[in-house]
Amino acid sequence: MTTPTDPCQSCGLCCTRQSSPPFMPDEMDALPPDLRDGINRYLDSPLFDDNAPCIWLDRTTTRCMHHEHRPGVCRDYPVGGSDCRNTRTSVGLTLEGLPTVSPEDDEL
Ligand code: SF4
Ligand code: SF4
Repeated sequence: MTTPTDPCQSCGLCCTRQSSPPFMPDEMDALPPDLRDGINRYLDSPLFDDNAPCIWLDRTTTRCMHHEHRPGVCRDYPVGGSDCRNTRTSVGLTLEGLPTVSPEDDEL
């Protein structure tokens, strides 16, 4: 794991790329039952929208509502990597003053 050089701005944009927490099957099995059932109910419901932000994203605070239970892929997301930075600049967030990321930092 590379130490991030670009701090997270808590914009929540990386959590808009999947409609539900992207758990592996073994991770789903290890979740508290109420959280697992909530995800499964959403996936089976007519409200499911594959293009919507993650259902665990609090759209007011732009924080994960169950941060301590988030999937491994969310834990390992390269903060300050090219995807993170490109996502921010695509909506006009300024990166001015933030340190630049070296190409090796994207190789996680
Ligand atoms: S896109 Fe980057 S800056 Fe925004 S919340 Fe995700 S990791 Fe943080
Ligand atoms: S960090 Fe939380 S809100 Fe963001 S994608 Fe992962 S589970 Fe969803």
